Amino acid sequence: MQLLEDRIQREGTVKTADVLKVDAFLNHQCDVALFDAMGEAWAEHFAGKRIDKILTIEASGIGIACCAARHFGNVPVVFAKKAQSINLDGDQYSTTVYSFTKQREFPVIVSKKYLNAGEHVLLIDDFLANGKALHGLIDLCEAAGAVIEGIGIAVEKGFQKGGDELRAEGYDVDSLAIVESMDPQTGRIEFRH
Ligand code: 5GP
Repeated sequence: MQLLEDRIQREGTVKTADVLKVDAFLNHQCDVALFDAMGEAWAEHFAGKRIDKILTIEASGIGIACCAARHFGNVPVVFAKKAQSINLDGDQYSTTVYSFTKQREFPVIVSKKYLNAGEHVLLIDDFLANGKALHGLIDLCEAAGAVIEGIGIAVEKGFQKGGDELRAEGYDVDSLAIVESMDPQTGRIEFRH
């Protein structure tokens, strides 16, 4: 998606060899017009598929998933929580995920009330690196008996293994920008097309 690639080129910074910072429009400050265009692009890609619900993971997935839902007939958005809370009552599906950015394990939890057998689900997240977060969401869907129709990603880092693995597993992964390489020394970012 040209709009997203241009934005990454203009405002993204290559923090390290494998961490891209896009706080100016995605991970801290949110550009909702861009989010809306991203939702439109996913709706075009997944057109014809039955999507009953969007499942994402807190925190940065929530904004993009909500904007996307407007393009999927205002389906509900459920976000998996990364910590237990007294507000999370009743039965839950839960798994553990290793965080790429925080470099530690954390729980990924969703209430059984909001993920049901037979529901057709679109998974959405901001970044795809090694695929741990997505596999956590897949585990939750499998536990619930929900059907995964596809995966929408804003930024995939193509030089990490998550995207290729998920596609090899048979998932329809639509990444709006795929970073082929990036260099923290020069700041140069190249995309896969
Ligand atoms: P994975 O689980 O695929 O290894 O990593 C994906 C998760 O880690 C995403 O939910 C995202 O929050 C975070 N992440 C991974 N790589 C990056 C990155 O380069 N930049 C930012 N901002 N977040 C990342």
